Amino acid sequence: MAEPCEHFNGIGAVEPQTRGCQECLALREPWTELRVCLTCGHVGCCEDSKHAHALQHYNATGHPLIASLERGQNWAWCYVDRRYFDPMPIARPRRRSWLAALLKRRSTTRPG
Ligand SMILES: [Zn+2]
Ligand SMILES: [Zn+2]
Ligand SMILES: [Zn+2]
Repeated sequence: MAEPCEHFNGIGAVEPQTRGCQECLALREPWTELRVCLTCGHVGCCEDSKHAHALQHYNATGHPLIASLERGQNWAWCYVDRRYFDPMPIARPRRRSWLAALLKRRSTTRPG
């Protein structure tokens, strides 16, 4: 199995922040596939999607690692090293926890 790159040292367990691409949801645009940032849990669309928000997130933040959120896919990608990790060497963020995370967030009072 491929050795994880150094960037895996900088990440922890993340929860996907949203149930779809955050930016596409705001724009009401469709996407093709979803990727999750392994640094902060940002959910963005893949490079086959119209807006490639996962890539835009990397360009904006420098967060190096993403994973696929698609069912049956268990790979990660490092933008810095341009390397695939399949299967990814850490626990994959779980889709199932989205709802719980959203409910948790809604129950805490936050402006907006
Ligand atoms: Zn790397
Ligand atoms: Zn998007
Ligand atoms: Zn991020």
